[in-house]
Amino acid sequence: MEAPPPMDYLPVFLKLRSASAVIVGGGRIAGRKADLLLRSGARITVIAPELHADLRERVARGELSHLARTFIPAHLDGANLAIAATGRKDINSEVSAAARERGVPVNVVDDAALSTFIFPAIIDRSPLLVAVGSAGHAPVLARWVREQIEAILPAGLGALARFMGERRRRVQRSLGAAARRAFWERVVRGKTSARVLAGDESAAERVFEAELLLSGLTTSVGTGGIALGEVYLIGAGPGDPDLLTLRALQLLQQADVVLYDRLVPAAVLERARREARRIFVGKSRGEGAEHTRQEEIHELMIRFARQGLKVARLKGGDPFIFGRGGEEVEALARQGIPHLVVPGITAALGAAASAGIPLTQRGLAHSVTFITGHVPEDDSLDWRALARERQTVVFYMGVGKLSSIVARLRAAGAPAALPAALIEQATLPGERVLRATLATIADLGQQAGISPPALLIVGEVAAVGERSSVRSACDAETAADLMQPI
Ligand code: SAH
Repeated sequence: MEAPPPMDYLPVFLKLRSASAVIVGGGRIAGRKADLLLRSGARITVIAPELHADLRERVARGELSHLARTFIPAHLDGANLAIAATGRKDINSEVSAAARERGVPVNVVDDAALSTFIFPAIIDRSPLLVAVGSAGHAPVLARWVREQIEAILPAGLGALARFMGERRRRVQRSLGAAARRAFWERVVRGKTSARVLAGDESAAERVFEAELLLSGLTTSVGTGGIALGEVYLIGAGPGDPDLLTLRALQLLQQADVVLYDRLVPAAVLERARREARRIFVGKSRGEGAEHTRQEEIHELMIRFARQGLKVARLKGGDPFIFGRGGEEVEALARQGIPHLVVPGITAALGAAASAGIPLTQRGLAHSVTFITGHVPEDDSLDWRALARERQTVVFYMGVGKLSSIVARLRAAGAPAALPAALIEQATLPGERVLRATLATIADLGQQAGISPPALLIVGEVAAVGERSSVRSACDAETAADLMQPI
């Protein structure tokens, strides 16, 4: 086997609490280094005839000491770490030489040749830290890698690391080495972690205790372990996979089974764990059929969870907006199945953003209503309230009832000239936006063959941003394209 290439640097984590760090230089960059070192708990002395305002403030607050002198080598006597950030090559070289002579690790900003250590790009989820470096070859690449990692690491990772740290000793006492390892694996990949990351530590605590108890039991009787499954009710957003939330992605990556609806496109499903079983549970219309299907979905979720599986119930948009998420949560709760709800971008928000229609706008609309177009003919909807001015009304599932919706709004007093827009397949590659008025929208929609999924937006705001609506997020080759005027 080929030997790995030599490492230019050894990545290590340096403990600096109460250690003495010397920063030579008083400018903005020195200030940034001081900020970083302060977080590590170092005692800092800044040596510079003059200080930048940020540093002056820190000195005034007593966070660091200042020596208003020109640097001399003796300043590094007794130092544990040195940084040169003066912007002057001669002084920086002097600092570097003095530090090396004394065996003090030194970093000269932007000068790897004069440095004995360099700063990595960091992701700080303290106590969890990720450091990325390119040994000075490609700092921009290192920062890009940092961004990629940053995006996939949940914000609550620090809380999770702390949660685990606080329980380490207890687990050590309760379980043998092999069981311990398996237990922690389950914590990291399973329900405890999902709950800590969702910010619910008391629920996490309960799951943790139950699992620890089970681990103890199963190892003592030597069985394979009893796992409790759970269900994640995940909003998949309006269609564009980039509009999934980070939490949705994280949980999709953990799922054993994915139950998905008609509105969830393949591009979103692709983001689920490769080995996950994918089951289509989309409903066709027809009241009776729909009812049974909904019951079947409940049964499926419950059955899989009882088998100890992690079930991702993936729904278009947001699970709690016309998604029957409420019923699913009730069904799970009745059976005592642990579950989590992950919000998604509802179709109205996705459609509005990609059509350039602000759902509220000063002077035009002070409120917005999401409403289902699927209302029975004898409904008790307050059409007069919906027809009032200075508001936006968004109809979901209204395509089939377009002319009846328009007629009712008109009868309730909405003007014929009131702007209205139809957005079909919002945020998807086939997105179409049709702008008109109440007088024309039903006919134009029919002529254009607008079909589900589509939304009807009614209100003055439907005429805003007309120019930009020719282009949707999906036509753009890069995000930057979207920023350019069309
Ligand atoms: N829970 C979903 C809504 C489900 S009801 C959400 O929060 O978005 C289904 C209706 O949503 C469709 O009939 C349509 O009116 C609307 N819808 C969903 N996705 C859409 C899309 N990409 N473009 C336009 N409308 C959409």
